[in-house]
Amino acid sequence: MDCRDVQNLLHPYSDGELDLIRHLQIENHLDDCKECAERARSLRQLRGVLASTSLYHRAPDGLQAKLRATAEPLPTPSGRTGQRRPSAMLAAMAAGIFVLLGAVTAGFLFSRPGTIDDRFAERVVAGHVRSLQVAHATDVVSSDRHTVKPWFLGKVNFSPRVPDLSPQGYTLSGGRLDYLIDRPVAALVYHRRAHLINVFTWPAPDDGEQPVRSLHRQGFQIRSWQHSGMVYWAISDLNDVELDEFVRLFQEHTAAAPG
Ligand SMILES: [Zn+2]
Repeated sequence: MDCRDVQNLLHPYSDGELDLIRHLQIENHLDDCKECAERARSLRQLRGVLASTSLYHRAPDGLQAKLRATAEPLPTPSGRTGQRRPSAMLAAMAAGIFVLLGAVTAGFLFSRPGTIDDRFAERVVAGHVRSLQVAHATDVVSSDRHTVKPWFLGKVNFSPRVPDLSPQGYTLSGGRLDYLIDRPVAALVYHRRAHLINVFTWPAPDDGEQPVRSLHRQGFQIRSWQHSGMVYWAISDLNDVELDEFVRLFQEHTAAAPG
């Protein structure tokens, strides 16, 4: 194994993803090769830094606009656009660095050995944000559970439970088909005032019951639990108290009247 081979494998190596033989080969190489050992060390350091800070940073307000403004080409005396000002060059370089940092971060994000929960939480947040961005969070628009439930027939190979919680102030708005990691899931959409709640649900790998776990990601509240052979992930920007109440009601109604 030469230096290039070793350096190509440093990511999976530090994630412990290599088979034992290759792992030991790299370990031996790092004992003897200063350059590769140094690379392995800075990789570990970089990961430490990334792990200790939030991976999600919002660019300060107006920064994009500022970058765009400074990157405008200068009009030449003849009226045509000419070469860019030095400040524009700097801005473009800064933007390039932002993109590069983003790419590096994304690379680490996906090669990071996160827990299953972490990875699901990421996808749940992405699914939620996607549903907020598109004009329609719902493929089937109805507050009637007897309309929403059958809509999933033939779209997913399971029948989600769709409790009616409108008497308690959590209005069913509809449902849609979504994908989390590798599987199609049912997304049930509820509203509490202006707050949208997505409940992602799909069949659990076993019949075990899982109590509610709370997560907080990117400003969203997340609750996940497993009940009667189904997995549930609820996410919203609703406050803790009301989302907990929603989950409690949802559980009561899926327990009392399955279907
Ligand atoms: Zn080497």
